[in-house]
Amino acid sequence: MRFRARRGHTGRPAITVAKVAGPVNVSGDKEKKQTRILAADVAAIADAAAVLRAGGLVAFPTETVYGLGARADDPRAVAALYAAKGRPSFNPLIAHVHGLDAAKRLGDFNATALSLAEAFWPGPLTIVVKANQNEGTCELARAGLDTVAIRMPSHPVARELLAAVDFPVVAPSANRSGHVSPTTAGHVAEDLTGKIDLILDGGASEGGIESTIVDCSRETPRLLRSGGVAREEIEKITGPLAAAATDEVSAPGMMTSHYAPKARIRLDASDVRKGEALLAFGALPAGSEQARTIRNLSARGDLTEAASNLYAYLRALDATGAGTIAVAPIPGIGLGEAIRDRLKRAAAPR
Ligand code: AMP
Ligand code: MG
Repeated sequence: MRFRARRGHTGRPAITVAKVAGPVNVSGDKEKKQTRILAADVAAIADAAAVLRAGGLVAFPTETVYGLGARADDPRAVAALYAAKGRPSFNPLIAHVHGLDAAKRLGDFNATALSLAEAFWPGPLTIVVKANQNEGTCELARAGLDTVAIRMPSHPVARELLAAVDFPVVAPSANRSGHVSPTTAGHVAEDLTGKIDLILDGGASEGGIESTIVDCSRETPRLLRSGGVAREEIEKITGPLAAAATDEVSAPGMMTSHYAPKARIRLDASDVRKGEALLAFGALPAGSEQARTIRNLSARGDLTEAASNLYAYLRALDATGAGTIAVAPIPGIGLGEAIRDRLKRAAAPR
């Protein structure tokens, strides 16, 4: 794999590995996994459920394409998923569930969301609702949004797998970022062998169109993406759907209304000034003893571990009331690119 040098917001080249004390683990690339491919029978689905439960990655067929599953409530599993896909930024992911009761635990279903779920689930409709912050999906899965996208797929293998676990499963398409979505287990293997734990082979997916996404989190429901369920069918229930701004559709996790800390964010801090909170990565920088609080994203310089801690640690440091959070240099390679991207957005003037 190649990593291209990027320029940081300062115009300087992005931080190089050498600037971080100790080794950096671009996880997902360093450790090769043993990827098993199993025909999706009862035993294999039980096996897959156990892998997911333990925080592993499982590709499985849905009625649209093959999805790459990870438990949605575990930031380490979600970080590993982003690493396996090689995503340059943290897009919010869709949480897949087996039933409406499970869906209701993840977010606030108003009357519109409920009637859409009753009409179109299971099937290719994704419903966005206000997230239950305390249960179900971690912030990394939601890319920090206070809403959550939920879907109940209809493919029998997906349904059996979701029935076998008691947590929601995020499942973006099971391909490397930028590649074509896979509709067979073989396609998944070509892209992700060595990077994921298990592929459930359930034959060819219909390769249908993606799910329709409707945002029910506000007064007027909005169509965020057209897909497998036609707008006209949805509007029979909701009345006219509002249109969404393009940035909400292409990259909802990147909107400016998105969670941002109260504190100023000082990026690529090579030292710590008195009273600052410190978000560290690897060895602590000079002046760390002056920090009011320290959270280390990964003391051993592991970018996947860092991604899994990012949102919780930013929030914890912000809660100390510090005026500034100094952020140690994080290399812009592997998941570091997405972490830096997120931090830059948090640092943007508001
Ligand atoms: P997919 O590519 O089918 O996995 O769908 C992911 C899509 O869902 C992306 O376009 C995301 O931007 C969108 N999405 C996920 N969560 C949300 C959310 N909370 N609000 C709006 N869109 C979301
Ligand atoms: Mg895709």
